[in-house]
Amino acid sequence: MSFSDLGLTDPLVRAVEARNYTEPTPVQLEAIPAVLEGKDVWARAETGSGKTAAFALPLIQRSLQIPRPNRQSIGVLVLVPTRELAVQIEQSFAAYTEYLPTQLKIVSAYGGVSANPQMMALRGGADIVIATPGRLLDLIDQNALQIGDVQAVVLDEADKLFELGFTEELTRITDLLPQERQTLLFSATFPPAVSTLAKSLLTDPVKISFSESPKAAPAITEKAIEVDAPRRTQLLLHLLQDPAWTRVLVFVSTKYSTGHVAEKLRRADITAGSLHGQLSQGARLKAINDFKAGKLQVLVATDLAARGLDIPELPVVVNYDLPRSVVSYTHRIGRTGRAGQSGTAVSFVTADTFPHFQLIEKRYDRVIPREQIEGFSPFALPTTIPVNPDGGGIKGKRKSKKDKLREAAGQSLPPPPSPTPRPTAKAQPPPRPQRQSRPPQDRPERAEPERNEIESSFAWHRPRPGSRRR
Ligand code: AMP
Repeated sequence: MSFSDLGLTDPLVRAVEARNYTEPTPVQLEAIPAVLEGKDVWARAETGSGKTAAFALPLIQRSLQIPRPNRQSIGVLVLVPTRELAVQIEQSFAAYTEYLPTQLKIVSAYGGVSANPQMMALRGGADIVIATPGRLLDLIDQNALQIGDVQAVVLDEADKLFELGFTEELTRITDLLPQERQTLLFSATFPPAVSTLAKSLLTDPVKISFSESPKAAPAITEKAIEVDAPRRTQLLLHLLQDPAWTRVLVFVSTKYSTGHVAEKLRRADITAGSLHGQLSQGARLKAINDFKAGKLQVLVATDLAARGLDIPELPVVVNYDLPRSVVSYTHRIGRTGRAGQSGTAVSFVTADTFPHFQLIEKRYDRVIPREQIEGFSPFALPTTIPVNPDGGGIKGKRKSKKDKLREAAGQSLPPPPSPTPRPTAKAQPPPRPQRQSRPPQDRPERAEPERNEIESSFAWHRPRPGSRRR
């Protein structure tokens, strides 16, 4: 089935053809006709499934067909959890509207930058507004826009909106929406909070559910490499010699590590940048754009980059530090193997992180083949802690360092659970306790929410990053 078979008009079909979309993805096949008919949609879909086009294309078409009730109003409101996703979705809308005979006004609004340009851009309303909840409420409070007569609302990555603590903001926003509207909800997972929200917001929705999680995507080859913690950068440098590793996203747990690892790579003549939540919006965008443009071979990032980021042609993701949870794991590895391409996800497993790795495998309900690379076989023996059968697991009782060392002295590495043979079974010297230092103020970083961030800055002369008038 083609895009025009789904009922999209020629300029939109032309736009997707220009992006080399040969046929609709499963979520597009189901969502586009439903949205064109004005129905509510409840879709299980995550980044990589083509969900943006699934809602953007039909909503653009409806925006042209159904004029806004008045010049001040907003036609379509897209709520997103992070500024990166807001920028990305704005870019997608821009691309899909390229060949339209009538121009649409598309504005994105997110925190971390001055609100003034966004307020200016919103004067006279907009056809499409893509916003993070905190900034949206700030703008509403400043009378920069009102959402009482929006025609369609999209909640994108709804699970992430809750995960980032936007519950209160969502309640305030949904209270302001009109009764008569079209609502689309996209989420990778459906924890109770999302299901409750969906039930309260959606009217007789078309339910679309695909198991398109990275777990189900055969395109991603997963493996774990056992290595001593202090040798991870050397191992990474070794692996980067592979000509297939043209663009590599490396996940670490702290913002300090992003700079630290990137710096070590740069010293070895690898073009590497870092990305974390404490960078300015400009610096974040530059890092992402440089990475996308191929100016950087490696981007070392915190979990900020784990969700929503769409980096085309990303062959490899490396978990230099293991993620905290299996949810982060699936989101991290889902950055590769996208849009039909294959990808590799490599996790470094050290003695200290081995028990955590086992827990991730258990929660993931799958065995990740482990291997060792010649010259990088670990000397330190991993410790094991029993996996809590009640599922208390990662956040459950942790062993003290002393306990771990005691166990390390008495236990050896269990054989890999996969058919992958261990390449080098060397005699293991006595265990070496490992220490990883990081500044005390440097805490593991997760993707952080946009909060009320109106800055009373005098930024009228700055460029207008949040707006686009065509
Ligand atoms: P999304 O899930 O919206 O983040 O999209 C993931 C990636 O898939 C983006 O790079 C899109 O440009 C791309 N994409 C979306 N729809 C299609 C399609 N029908 N065919 C090929 N690529 C697509």
